[in-house]
Amino acid sequence: MTILKEDDSVYPIIVPTKSSLRTFNFYLLEEAGSLSLIDAGINSEECWESFRQVMTENGFSFDDLTQIIITHNHEDHVGLINRISSIKELPIYAHKESIHRLKREKEFFSLRVEFFQQLYQEMGCGAPGEQQVEKLKEAIRRNEKNKIQADILPLTDFDTIAGLQIIETPGHSPDHLVFLHPQRKWLFAGDHLIGHISSNALVEPDQKGRRILTLVDYVDSLKKCLHLKIDTVYPGHGELIHDHRDLITTRLNRIDEKGEKILNLMQSGISIASQLAYAYYKDKYKSEFSLVMSEIIGHLDYLERLGKIQKERKGGVWHYHATSLTV
Ligand SMILES: [Zn+2]
Repeated sequence: MTILKEDDSVYPIIVPTKSSLRTFNFYLLEEAGSLSLIDAGINSEECWESFRQVMTENGFSFDDLTQIIITHNHEDHVGLINRISSIKELPIYAHKESIHRLKREKEFFSLRVEFFQQLYQEMGCGAPGEQQVEKLKEAIRRNEKNKIQADILPLTDFDTIAGLQIIETPGHSPDHLVFLHPQRKWLFAGDHLIGHISSNALVEPDQKGRRILTLVDYVDSLKKCLHLKIDTVYPGHGELIHDHRDLITTRLNRIDEKGEKILNLMQSGISIASQLAYAYYKDKYKSEFSLVMSEIIGHLDYLERLGKIQKERKGGVWHYHATSLTV
């Protein structure tokens, strides 16, 4: 698959993947004498070679790079940072919530393990929850080597850098940022908006271990982008997007529809998140446990925010009920 280059000053780096993401996309942006790398792909030889090829084909050297700007901390957006930094020291910019994640701070990651242990117990997950916690511990050990070595400088709402306006869009991850070029009407969207698949709003704790209402945040962040004047969205995966309003409306409608289906399951008598997840997703409850639980918990938060459901704790497990049945 190719993504057509729309303007000379954006140089997309597109790396195919067999997964449903289709491609890993990141971008060189040449703007008023600066050359920024927006996201940094995944840490693979193929990705590294694609990056070097786009640099060479367009006559750039590592000396031309001025900074790396990151949409969010996920490994398929930060993969080449250490390799690039080992060749040229560069400022790395990201949301402040990215820093302890990218620095793999031990205290935060052990708090994160405790958070998921407790969460899956409170959602009645049983053995699949315990297995997921073990997988998480293993992933933390495995990813220790991916710690970003360079200093990371924080970005926040309304900052500008390289002609880009920074917009906080928490939801897919708590540290998610998108970058708007107001004159050109470009939006570098990371995983906030993807054309061919809906982004998951993954359950996450904040720095104090409190659960973030990720889907509620995601809905607010989608609405925040609805009225931006954008001609082209440069996403983190898949093809360019030219109709962001239609796409956002589709995504918001899908969240409402899914919420209604979950509400129907609750009205049929299921009240625990893990049981709702199994009723909704069947075998995926085990095979894609963490994604499925994020989806269900996120939609329960969203329904609660809308006043459609309420929850009570019985024997250490949350039970959810449709409001109309309990009042
Ligand atoms: Zn992501």
